[in-house]
Amino acid sequence: MQTHQYEAIIVGAGGAGLMAALYASKGGAKVAVVSKLYPTRSHTGTAQGGIGAALGNLDEDNPLWHAYDTVKGGDYLADQNAAKVLAYEAVDAVIELEHMGLPFDRTPEGKISQRRFGGHTSNFGEKPVRRACHAADRTGHMILQTLYQQCIKHHVQFFDEYHCVDLIVNDGKVAGIVAIALGTGEIHIFHGKAILFATGGWGRVWSVTSNAHSLTGDGSAVVYRRGIPMQDMEFYQFHPTGIYRMGILITEGVRGEGGILVNRHGERFMEKYAPKIKDLASRDVVSRAIYMEIRNGNGIKGKDYVYLDVRPETVNRYLAEAGETRRIDREYIEKKLPDILDFCRTYLGVDPVSEPMPIQPTAHYAMGGIPTNVNAEVVVDANWTVLPGLYAAGECACVSCHGANRLGTNSLVDLVVFGRRGGKAIAEYVKQADYTPLPDKPSAEIEAELERIRHSNGRTRPAELRKTMQDVMMADVGVFREERGMQSALDCVRELKQRYNTDLSIDDRGFKFNTDLFEAWELGCLLDMAEATAVSALARKESRGGHSREDFRERDDANWLVHSLVYRKTDEPYPQESIELEVNHDKKVDMSLADEDERFVPKVRVY
Ligand SMILES: Cc1cc2nc3c(=O)[nH]c(=O)nc-3n(C[C@H](O)[C@H](O)[C@H](O)COP(=O)(O)OP(=O)(O)OC[C@H]3O[C@@H](n4cnc5c(N)ncnc54)[C@H](O)[C@@H]3O)c2cc1C
Repeated sequence: MQTHQYEAIIVGAGGAGLMAALYASKGGAKVAVVSKLYPTRSHTGTAQGGIGAALGNLDEDNPLWHAYDTVKGGDYLADQNAAKVLAYEAVDAVIELEHMGLPFDRTPEGKISQRRFGGHTSNFGEKPVRRACHAADRTGHMILQTLYQQCIKHHVQFFDEYHCVDLIVNDGKVAGIVAIALGTGEIHIFHGKAILFATGGWGRVWSVTSNAHSLTGDGSAVVYRRGIPMQDMEFYQFHPTGIYRMGILITEGVRGEGGILVNRHGERFMEKYAPKIKDLASRDVVSRAIYMEIRNGNGIKGKDYVYLDVRPETVNRYLAEAGETRRIDREYIEKKLPDILDFCRTYLGVDPVSEPMPIQPTAHYAMGGIPTNVNAEVVVDANWTVLPGLYAAGECACVSCHGANRLGTNSLVDLVVFGRRGGKAIAEYVKQADYTPLPDKPSAEIEAELERIRHSNGRTRPAELRKTMQDVMMADVGVFREERGMQSALDCVRELKQRYNTDLSIDDRGFKFNTDLFEAWELGCLLDMAEATAVSALARKESRGGHSREDFRERDDANWLVHSLVYRKTDEPYPQESIELEVNHDKKVDMSLADEDERFVPKVRVY
């Protein structure tokens, strides 16, 4: 076993982790980044469409309008101070990325190019606005490369392919993390003053997902098992356009460039569901519309998919109908959406320039997660009590700037804005904080759990449990939900947890690159996230944003304009028996605005 000491330990090397590491390091802290993937393989690298910022390069824009859209898109559950911080700080964060060397697409005048995205409007909902800054359809890839280079330049230490498996807490204070070097299986203790989790989402809970295999909710599960609640877990976003059956994402940028959704009758059905903003309505609205079409037998060939059509002739016809002078051609699509064309040609044998793409909603983004304040400090209860030294940012965190439904392009903003705030807060914190001493045998509990899995010889393969979990969560805790289905999904997940704890079986008993072991451990995290999601979803008796109940169809502001906090009712990180969870709804939505402005309408709420 080896022990390392760093003032700041960042777990995760996606956009949020790298931005935090960069700023902690620039602020003078000694920083280590621990990542189970090589940094540039993080999921941020797959983000396609863009990063939202009210630069106003092509249309008049204002950060206040961006904040308004964010709160409205989030069905009013967002903390409005956080949404304002997001929208205002997006502007200089994007310009900062540009100055770091990020190769954004340009307008003919040389400004950063921007495009439309769902839910982004000008003048408080008046009309769509071009706000998404992009580098073709590889925006996240460019962000990740740029930030990684900057971290290297600023002497951040990287521990690549180190898998964090536990948070070390001593006497109620955070002291470090336990990680395993994948190549050797050796245990490494990272002793730190401040720990920031930036481990991304858990889309692998569902069977059709846009998320990479690595998105298994590890960091969230690790802190959750150490007594920290998860916030707003019922709000999970299904992106409307995943490649049929595979879930691979087709960016909303396709609709931003003029692509439209059609059913088997060739009807542009979004005209029925969102007459004003149509195909660019927010994602929850579009995903539900697709499900409704499929239910009504309007799926293509009567099956469970519809078409996304970005053929130049279709787009031009609708542009003309809308009275727009802009026209597009094949070259334009090739230039603006190269990766999307490539995915469809490779995986589907469909060429989107001459054929429509078969798509269905795909599990995409966790609005919920580890509760934090706007400085990325983790809070542990409804009174916003901060746990000193513990931070979280990015998709694993819940600030909550996205409320019940995130707008497209706002996750990349979240990473850079709140990653940067977390990094700055850590740099200040470590100047005055001491190291909490490590307890005796800091890795004893997690070692016992890993040894249990390594030597497991029951009857159940992890892959079998995973598939059952994914299928029931997709069917009953997906786009549409109702009490009976959710209860049966929860019962099923609990039974799977029981089998996971008592009847597991894996093959590889070795130490070097034991991916068998880590996949099984990750499944444990997924099961915890699935259970927390189902329990929170059952508890919220209304429909809002990404949480749509058929037995409570209306949004109920009188009773439910509150966050959910789900706690495990045990101190044991790895109990063998099923444990009780408690959902607490005392945490109020923060309506206070960082910078008061009378015109910020959502404070009064609009219908
Ligand atoms: C296909 C796709 C397209 C998207 N497009 C857009 C877009 O255009 N615009 C937008 O705003 N958002 C988009 N999103 C959402 C956005 O990309 C993600 O929410 C965001 O990138 C998450 O970043 P992150 O830094 O939180 O985590 P990630 O980038 O997911 O990185 C997680 C990191 O944590 C590390 N990690 C995880 N577990 C462990 C562990 N146990 N030990 C050590 N390290 C660990 C991983 O190695 C990785 O480095 C897209 C998402 C997907 C899936």
